Amino acid sequence: MPGAPVQKKNISKKGKKGGELVVTGLAASPGLVIGRAFAIKYGLPKVPVRILRPEAVRGEIERFHAALARTRTQCEELRDSLKIKLKDKTHRIFDAHLMMIDDSLLIDQTLSLIREQFMGAEQAFSVTVDKIAKVVGSHGNDQYLRERVDDIWDVQRRVLSNLMGFDPDYRINLKEPAILIAHDLTPSQTAQLDRTLILGAATDVGGSTSHTAILSRSLEIPAVVGLENITELVVTGDEIIVDGYNGTVTIRPEQDKVKVFYDRARGYRQIEDQLAELQALPAKTIDGMLVELSANIEFPEEVDSVISHGARGVGLFRTEFLYLTRNDLPSEEEQYEAYAKVVSCLKPEPVIIRTLDAGADKFAVQLQSAPDANPFLGNRAIRICLKRKDIFRTQLRALLRATVHGNLKILLPFISTIEELKKSIAFIRKVRRELEREGALIAPRTEIGSMIEVPSAALMIEDFLPYVDFISIGTNDLIQYLLAVDRGNEKVAHLYQPFNPAVIRLIDSVIKAARKANKWVGVCGEMAGSPYSALLLVGMGVVELSASPASVPGVKKIIRSVSYKEARALAEKVLTFNSTARIKNFLTQQVEEIDREIIELYKE
Ligand code: PEP
Ligand code: MG
Repeated sequence: MPGAPVQKKNISKKGKKGGELVVTGLAASPGLVIGRAFAIKYGLPKVPVRILRPEAVRGEIERFHAALARTRTQCEELRDSLKIKLKDKTHRIFDAHLMMIDDSLLIDQTLSLIREQFMGAEQAFSVTVDKIAKVVGSHGNDQYLRERVDDIWDVQRRVLSNLMGFDPDYRINLKEPAILIAHDLTPSQTAQLDRTLILGAATDVGGSTSHTAILSRSLEIPAVVGLENITELVVTGDEIIVDGYNGTVTIRPEQDKVKVFYDRARGYRQIEDQLAELQALPAKTIDGMLVELSANIEFPEEVDSVISHGARGVGLFRTEFLYLTRNDLPSEEEQYEAYAKVVSCLKPEPVIIRTLDAGADKFAVQLQSAPDANPFLGNRAIRICLKRKDIFRTQLRALLRATVHGNLKILLPFISTIEELKKSIAFIRKVRRELEREGALIAPRTEIGSMIEVPSAALMIEDFLPYVDFISIGTNDLIQYLLAVDRGNEKVAHLYQPFNPAVIRLIDSVIKAARKANKWVGVCGEMAGSPYSALLLVGMGVVELSASPASVPGVKKIIRSVSYKEARALAEKVLTFNSTARIKNFLTQQVEEIDREIIELYKE
């Protein structure tokens, strides 16, 4: 359970090969599901960044030619088999791909990057393809050329897969509902999953606050990640149970386990039904303190789920998913429609829309030709936007135009210096003036806030506050950057500790500074979605919590079961502890005393 006291459990297996096996990983998205497995053995390639030694250049060129040859053979085979299967002209797609593979510009430019700049073949090929796609794609709205750009991406994927030894032909192509088993799923793959066919998911890698995990919570797909070798243990067709509450997967369950599964599923449904009764009630403590409880979303379509789970508005709209599910950039008009839809549906409740936070694990092919060597420390979010003002401007125009439809606030991600903050705000003002000159309709004033998710921003909070209307603490990144623990890496998941005293004390100092300056302070990281940490954060003085829609009822329940006075006392006590274990034990014991029922849903 994200944000719960204990995050990582040891892998435990029992049973013989072919018989029942229980494996434990990290609970990434709640829910209990049984079904047949659909196992994907390979992931999409991430481009490695390598500098070659001069003596390795020749070998690299040979490797590149071999990958091209393999790609050529695959395309010819696919074309010929399609010609037999489909009597139409579909097979001609592969003729176009074959022409591209033999394109002298593509080959020569890649080779010169390998030879002259000592780039690895994968990166050299990616950079070249990217350049060509940009030129082809710049020819306006021509449908034919747009399709050619899609072909270019297809060829790129295939050549890269061949260079890196992946199967380029895997497709998540389900005919009937199944549980997805994969080594890894990127956020963009997850975003494209068909919710009606994917019953659940289990992966070898990943942490519970990775964007893939966050996304499966949004899509309400029960998921367990960080299972290390689930792809070796399961084959397509195996019956499995995914328990997204406890983080376990039961492979080929015996009959008694299946019976237990149905009993537990019934129990959870009852608890969820009880939680659903809270939908229309406010998140108010026993002594009348009202907490703004809102939801995090990634897609405009989630508005219904925000309402049905009883959230007050949107505390974080992660707009990058508008970019990740496609190969080109979303236009101003497309973005305007998406933002306006959410804002007007939830009016008069607030909708906090975060500007593009691409980069890190959310690699967007239109923005970067190849992932950075250290993507979480590289070109990400506001760093990209301040360099690519054209992209930032388009998004800001769409956002500002959408302000007339309701209560829209703009949130800036990944701010790490005061200069970034000032530059971003100045640029927003500039875009506003530009729109005003054009006579566009915009709300007279739009609140601008900063994410506090980089330790440098947390430490400089007093200096940041005069420039913003509000702040939102992004605990997912704050924890990873403060503790130097990759949030997506299951191998270090035990060190990713929301209850580490350093994390708690830093968050506390940010909240105190914001309250002193009379500035609104919310939390939109996963800590806001766990009853344990939500209780602590309320006690520490946050005025807003924003979590995935499905987490909202549980958080509301704990808030409604406690007095603000009790929560404050609890937070004061926690701040005196200097060990993660003490904080976790204390909070577990407190939540148990306050609300035993909630423990059923969130127990270890
Ligand atoms: C965070 O870092 O806590 C956050 C909310 O942003 P994201 O998870 O999208 O990085
Ligand atoms: Mg973040």
